[in-house]
Amino acid sequence: MMKSRPIAATLAFFTAAGLMLGGCSAPTGGDTGEKKLTFMFRGGEDEKKAYEKAVEQFEAANGVDVDIIVTTADQYATKLKAAIAGKQVPDVFYIGPGDVQAYVQNGIVKDITEYVEGSDTIDLENIWEYGVDSYRYDGKLVGEGAIYALPKDVGPFSFGYNKTMLEKAGIPLPDKDKPYTFEEFVAAAKKLTADTNGDGALDQWGTGLNVQWNLQPFVWSNGGDWLNEDRTKVTVDTPEFAESLQWFADLQNVHGVTPSVAEAQTLDTYQRWMKGEIGFFPIAPWDLSTYQKLGFEWDVIPYPAGDTGKTASWIGSLGVAVSESTKYPEEAVKLVEYLTANKEAQQSLVDAGIQIPNLKDMAETWAADTTTKPANKAEFLEIVKDYGRALPGGNTFNAEWYDELFTNIQPVLDGKQTAADYLKEAQPRMQEFLDAANQQAGN
Ligand code: CA
Repeated sequence: MMKSRPIAATLAFFTAAGLMLGGCSAPTGGDTGEKKLTFMFRGGEDEKKAYEKAVEQFEAANGVDVDIIVTTADQYATKLKAAIAGKQVPDVFYIGPGDVQAYVQNGIVKDITEYVEGSDTIDLENIWEYGVDSYRYDGKLVGEGAIYALPKDVGPFSFGYNKTMLEKAGIPLPDKDKPYTFEEFVAAAKKLTADTNGDGALDQWGTGLNVQWNLQPFVWSNGGDWLNEDRTKVTVDTPEFAESLQWFADLQNVHGVTPSVAEAQTLDTYQRWMKGEIGFFPIAPWDLSTYQKLGFEWDVIPYPAGDTGKTASWIGSLGVAVSESTKYPEEAVKLVEYLTANKEAQQSLVDAGIQIPNLKDMAETWAADTTTKPANKAEFLEIVKDYGRALPGGNTFNAEWYDELFTNIQPVLDGKQTAADYLKEAQPRMQEFLDAANQQAGN
């Protein structure tokens, strides 16, 4: 999730006529007098199993027949576009926060505010505000106004460390309540970077972070940001932003605490983390089932913090929306409520190790259990409740302006261009894309 970009050129698919969704039965129902809904989502095997079970329970409890269409994460956007173009919009389907504006403007998703606010099956107050607010839209900005989906989940992106490795290196374990400064983090990462078997080649590194998913915490905690508050101006050409990006690039080029480009090509840093060769690495809720099998002890900590001294990170989310054209809006909303807020359904998803609970009370109970990994689950909740932010490209009409920052960033990462020079060049290009997106949004 969140790792494939939402629909980039949203308008294009409304004109891509003639595409039909293979294997999709029309969401008509009615033939037998039975109410029938189509639910389209994406996910891996664990997720598919958990949702199939949840849907069966929903069918039994509500006397509604639900057809499931499941795709891989990569194929979802394409298949949904085809379904929309073919006027076979599923009754219930996943959307990302970045899709809300376009879907609302094009009449694809239903305003479900009245249904969920007046619902006796869910308690909106018990669902993370961040999650619900991600699918609000007031016609101008995403984040406020009417509700167009409920969160399938919230995905707080956190930081972790290999406890076994730090203990072996004699490094005091990081404080879960006090983030490392940038300097402290580099010092720890240097101690971990080593040739442990004496063959002359490094086989253990302090860290190894993908810029696209890890730059945000460092920029924000250093006082920088991508946009101004009303999302009309790109603000990357600042000393705070440049300093954090330079620091990020220096981890490899100056401090040498990450695998080199060549070493990362042989085996990427995710695989090296899994093998126990990397000290510090991001950890998100969707990693938890895989990470239970790691051959070392690990835990979650706040991201190192720059000049503000306050840690930062981002939260991903997917939402479950109802089609504007559904024949059964009440039943469709009930299904959304069931998938996003039913206790048993939530528990099976949490047990599958793919997400944190959507329900606040359930999440507190889950986080309080420090006997299962990670012990510091509370950090995930802190991100959701307190310091997490949306990805900068997630709340604008499209993310082209945001993607532009990463398109030509390699020379900075390779130490061939300074961060300050690059950002000065990139900002006007990003601004052009942002202006175009805001114009499309009618802002
Ligand atoms: Ca070695």
